[in-house]
Amino acid sequence: MSMTYQAQELESHFAGGHFRRLGGWVESPVDLQPELESDVGADVIVIGAGFAGLSTALELTALGAKVVILEQEFAGFGASGRNAGYLGGSIGIEFELFLKRVGHEKAKSIVRFYDESVAYVEGRLRELGIDCDYNASGIIRAGIHPSQEKKLRKSMAVGDELGSRTEFLDQAQMRARGIPPAFLFGCLQRHGGTLDPGKYVMGLRRAALQAGVKLYENTKLVSYSDGPTITCQTTHGRATAPNLVLATNAYTPQIGLLRDKIVPFRVSAVETEPLSAQQLASLG
Ligand SMILES: Cc1cc2nc3c(=O)[nH]c(=O)nc-3n(C[C@H](O)[C@H](O)[C@H](O)COP(=O)(O)OP(=O)(O)OC[C@H]3O[C@@H](n4cnc5c(N)ncnc54)[C@H](O)[C@@H]3O)c2cc1C
Repeated sequence: MSMTYQAQELESHFAGGHFRRLGGWVESPVDLQPELESDVGADVIVIGAGFAGLSTALELTALGAKVVILEQEFAGFGASGRNAGYLGGSIGIEFELFLKRVGHEKAKSIVRFYDESVAYVEGRLRELGIDCDYNASGIIRAGIHPSQEKKLRKSMAVGDELGSRTEFLDQAQMRARGIPPAFLFGCLQRHGGTLDPGKYVMGLRRAALQAGVKLYENTKLVSYSDGPTITCQTTHGRATAPNLVLATNAYTPQIGLLRDKIVPFRVSAVETEPLSAQQLASLG
């Protein structure tokens, strides 16, 4: 009952213009690509135009493949256009949990993969000429209570064994980096930083279109048939190819796959109007 009430209340906020359905990073593009309304053929069909789908399409096109992307809304509509914008490597991993699941050797190669991804994205930004306000500040995992120091140091030690290079920052080193006093100490990974995810995903979209990727927006995959030739049925069209890449992220259960692997959880993020220099300074 309460869910229904909340849903109704949210709807009235949307209707009243209080909330947006999207975050502030992206808007529906002015050059929205037309819906697929006929039959098309390709070497590879990619479903979903987020970071994964667009990057896959770009890489495959560079290898000479004819690639079609089907996107139900517009490129960047999903998590790629709504995230926090941290470009981080292995510092994002919960090492102890992870180690228990995959074992030492595999954990090491996954840590390496995470760390290489930072250089990969930095390289792509340069090669594709994407300006997304990237600030290569490094990433800090910070502690806000003295009791967290032991756990942080232990996690750093496990990470170090797996090849994740980080440094401990004490109070003075945190202050020297301009971090507000509420953050007592931290673990710094020198590579990575922050970027505007909306500009990044829209840059990938632009690059994909320029590279000749055929992008159909407003085009939802409704069903597909497996076999040597895969047929993707959309609301008003059909695409066929010998290869299919599903880059549908958390939406994947909606096409009947990974239902028992994807677990919803709630994240709240607050977005303010731009802060003045004075307001920023008052934060310390
Ligand atoms: C609140 C939040 C904060 C985050 N912060 C960070 C961060 O700071 N750093 C970081 O690295 N990661 C962060 N992430 C994770 C990151 O955003 C995702 O891992 C990444 O964007 C996933 O990209 P993707 O291309 O796989 O999926 P998505 O960007 O979700 O793209 C999937 C696309 O598939 C389309 N689609 C789905 N079903 C269909 C269908 N049937 N037919 C056609 N199209 C379909 C969707 O419309 C969508 O555009 C965050 C995520 C969230 C939600």
